[in-house]
Amino acid sequence: MLVLRRGDTGPAVAEIRSTLGALDLLPSNSGGDTFDGTVEHAVRAFQQRRGLIIDGIVGPATYSALRDATYHFGNRPLAYLVSAPVRGDDVFALQERLLELGYDAGRPNGVFGAQTEHALRNFQRDYGLLVDGICGAGTVRALKQLSPRTRGGRPVFLREQERVRRAGPWLRGKRIVIDPGHGGDDPGVAAFGVTESEIVWDLARRLEGRMKATGMEALISRGPASGPSEADRAAFANEAGADLLLSLHCDRNQSPHAQGIATFHYGTGNGTSSTVGEALAGFLQRELVARTGMLDCRTHPKTWEVLLYTRCPAVRAEVGYLTNAEDRRRLSDPAFRDVVAEGILVAVKRLYLLGENDQPTGTFTFNDLLRTELAKAE
Ligand SMILES: [Zn+2]
Repeated sequence: MLVLRRGDTGPAVAEIRSTLGALDLLPSNSGGDTFDGTVEHAVRAFQQRRGLIIDGIVGPATYSALRDATYHFGNRPLAYLVSAPVRGDDVFALQERLLELGYDAGRPNGVFGAQTEHALRNFQRDYGLLVDGICGAGTVRALKQLSPRTRGGRPVFLREQERVRRAGPWLRGKRIVIDPGHGGDDPGVAAFGVTESEIVWDLARRLEGRMKATGMEALISRGPASGPSEADRAAFANEAGADLLLSLHCDRNQSPHAQGIATFHYGTGNGTSSTVGEALAGFLQRELVARTGMLDCRTHPKTWEVLLYTRCPAVRAEVGYLTNAEDRRRLSDPAFRDVVAEGILVAVKRLYLLGENDQPTGTFTFNDLLRTELAKAE
């Protein structure tokens, strides 16, 4: 293995000069093949940046770090080659991006190993890409599109928890985006004259009224007749600086027997999950099941756009099946929608109480809640 130091000349030095130029550590047009004082200075700067021993000499470690640094994420396909593992800064970027998205690519080390491939395949499977374990153009595009906008790995989820704890138990001043699904040209489920977009719009308004009564800032993500995209709904919550997003839907099934309530939160299904989202989904599910007696279809992690792109904790509730006669009949009743709205509000309150609440699930009424909130405000 070559060792290059001040005073050396030749093509290997020219290569190092051009790499340092590409990294903006040397003027890129400097050319030449001499290891002079400016090259030594640039090598030291590079070594410092990379946490290498700073000696101004290009030995094996510095040489391979320089090579790694020439690879930019997306400029070449990356795959697991057992005999000659691919390494480079682009592999490092891939590993970091997978980790941000909650895929366990192992400790980022810039070497494409078996664990990186496993994480990449899981990502490709979850996002509906070709599952080949190769980071090619399509996968790069998906990763670039997702990474800056999504909630990240565990540190992000810890920050979410900390924000909820710091926000305190009172509802007053908290900003909630209520997201009634569908709308505009998209009615959602329509069965026997009952339309999802209308049911959830009405439910959103009932919830909004109750939230505002407690001093919360409730915002609805769409107009009565508009149907923004999922990404736009998330952007609305992000721009509003929302504390939580609650997406409201009803479900459908080919079988008229399918019925019940399910709640969804952000999670990849392989252990990475928004902790706050999961907690809120749990409270919501339990309150709604206890209050309505509807079938418990449980909580589930999903990477749906509205959950993925919303920066604050977000949940989506599928309140009943409009294709089921019993669920449909109940949801058509405004008094029932009041019960649902109340259950959702109490679930939000429980989230901020951090479990410090002796009221059994399903018994905390809107009036109880209003009384304690208003007593606090005085
Ligand atoms: Zn829907």
